[in-house]
Formats: sequence, structure tokens, C-alpha cells
Amino acid sequence: MEYYVTFKYPEGMEPIPIPEQFRQQITPPEVVEKKEEKPEQNFIVLTEMKGNDGIITDFIPSLKDKYADKINQMLSDSEFSESTMSFEEIIPNYSESLGIYCVCGDLAKIEIVNICNWKNQFKFYLFEGESCKCGEKVYALSLLDESIEIPSELKEIFSS
Ligand SMILES: [Zn+2]
Repeated sequence: MEYYVTFKYPEGMEPIPIPEQFRQQITPPEVVEKKEEKPEQNFIVLTEMKGNDGIITDFIPSLKDKYADKINQMLSDSEFSESTMSFEEIIPNYSESLGIYCVCGDLAKIEIVNICNWKNQFKFYLFEGESCKCGEKVYALSLLDESIEIPSELKEIFSS
């Protein structure tokens, strides 16, 4: 047998404040930004990029896993902002023939488009894919414009 007991504060009485030390215990700790346990390795760079003003009309996707350290460094030196253009507007011809593929071979579905600003000198795209069914996530980098000047220390990242 269970008893359900409810009680009300008497009229006119303020709820009893919870002493500070208990309040700290019951308040969940502030959400700490989740950090990736391992730095991302599977970067794809859209090399031979053709396009202007943020619209990409052609590219050759290249897996740049051996530049992962350099790319992670470049990303940590960059400020991120979300693109005002959607991925569909940026790569209107995105398809199996002009696509970004996960390491498992599936065509990636891009979820987030970031514009990264490296040391206020150079802007590039970082496309983040949805979590693929294989458990991986695609990260792809691209220039915003084929005529953009790439800083010399970043040239090998973006070249094919
Ligand atoms: Zn996959």
C-alpha cells in the first residue's frame, strides 16, 4: 500500500528557501562545452575549387588526413561564423557526381556550414556533415572563391 502525501504552505507563508549548500548540490553543474576526445582526422578538402562569391561549381574532393594536425591548428586559429547561405545555395549541383563522401563511401549530408576567418587574413568554408551511419562525421574545407589568395603557410592544405 502506498500513501501519497501532499501539503501546502500555509497561506501567506513564503516557500522555505533552500539553504545555499543544498542548492549547490541540487543545481546541475554548468554545461561545459563538449570537447572532442580525439582531434578530427578525416578532413576532406575541396581542391581544384571552381566558383566565385561563395558559390562552388566544381571541385575534386581530397582526403587530407595527413594534414590533420595542420588543419586542426588552422581551425583553432580561426573564428567561426555560420554562413548566411545554405549548403544547397553554396553547391547547387551537389550530387553523387559532385559530392563529398564519408570514409565509408556514403554521400555526406552536410548539416552545418561555417565560414572560418583565419587570423583576419583568409576566409574558408568548413562543412560539417551529419553523423553518418558508420559513426564518422565528415568535415570538408573549401575556398570561398577560386581567385582568393591563400596564405603561403596554408597553401599545401588547399592544393591538390
Ligand atoms: Zn560513413
